[in-house]
Amino acid sequence: MDNTPVTDFLAHLPLTRPVLNDRERVFLAVLQGRVSSRSEATKRLSIRSSTVSEYVAELLDKGLLTEQISARSGRGRPLRSLGVHANRLVTIVFQVISQSVHAFMVNLSAEIVGHAKAEAPPDSDNQSLSAIFLQLYQAVLIKRPSGAELAGIVFSPGGVIDRNTHRWIHASRWPKMHNLDIQRLFSSEKYPISLSRTLDNELRIHLLLQPQSTLLLHWGYGVGFAFGQSSDRIVEGGSAFGEIGHWRVTDEGTSCHCGQSGCLETVTALWAIGPRLLGEDFHAGDDEEHIASMLKESDFTDNDLINQAIEHMSTAVSNVCRVFFPDRLVVSGPFVQNPQIWQAFCERFEQKNRFFGHEIRSVSVSQISRDLGIYGAALPVLEQGLAALLTD
Ligand SMILES: [Zn+2]
Repeated sequence: MDNTPVTDFLAHLPLTRPVLNDRERVFLAVLQGRVSSRSEATKRLSIRSSTVSEYVAELLDKGLLTEQISARSGRGRPLRSLGVHANRLVTIVFQVISQSVHAFMVNLSAEIVGHAKAEAPPDSDNQSLSAIFLQLYQAVLIKRPSGAELAGIVFSPGGVIDRNTHRWIHASRWPKMHNLDIQRLFSSEKYPISLSRTLDNELRIHLLLQPQSTLLLHWGYGVGFAFGQSSDRIVEGGSAFGEIGHWRVTDEGTSCHCGQSGCLETVTALWAIGPRLLGEDFHAGDDEEHIASMLKESDFTDNDLINQAIEHMSTAVSNVCRVFFPDRLVVSGPFVQNPQIWQAFCERFEQKNRFFGHEIRSVSVSQISRDLGIYGAALPVLEQGLAALLTD
């Protein structure tokens, strides 16, 4: 991981909520590079100069802005330029990559300013994973830049989570882990703790870049979806959401992690079909990006396993489309990186999804990088932290 800010747009804290007040407008204008002095703020934001000065003084006082003498113009007053203290607020995002747990510290400019990781063997249980989380937390906390306030801690571990009870229910990489109470783990900390689905974080970025009703499907180790209309309108459901991987698709199916049998995942997910598809090249803990590169190069012509999976996936997604009627379908995960699979999936989906002559407007493969997903997790917490600083 490097510290390179993601894209210009995303590095400028695109809010998923409305702007709070003029104080925040001034701060965001400086962060976004639209304003670099008090007089520019007055002009560009149409706020009276005395009010701008008042806000700037407050933002300097709160440590969000900096102001430096940049030059002296003739005999006039020195020119002062405004800058942002991007490290004033940070958040910690826990994420699982391959067989490792990572803790990222992200600042207001979407930069990763701290990172720690630890390997968690496949036989790790609640106790050993808890120890790893606490160790990583301490390791990343000491990387906090001076003057930085921690706005909160986000767990985005993949698998099945229960947002209401703050429990990590299941992860196929660690079958011995079950119902891990994340909130209790950090009960001695004063920072807000939240659990967020990896897919929702990825969807948030898609919706910030293009606000239209979007169904994001993940087809990888697990199968699930997220849906939203705009970055502040992501459907949450009840304790969990979008777990179509555990829809029953056959009565005679093999048993699934969830305790049922015949689930969609048993005939489509990487954990179920990966070993038969990739043989010895398949390792259960492998990163999806690594699996994607293997799948990309493979020839699946007349492969019954893949054809069956495509059939099931296209049916399942068409059914979900009958519930949400999205304008756009985006698919992420390693399978759709293979051009043959992608083309076959699109053809089958197109046939099944036509509804009274209507078709979905756009179908594409997700291009959101892992770094952007991490930022998608951090964003709501950074926004809340900023709101708290600006409404004190
Ligand atoms: Zn299941």
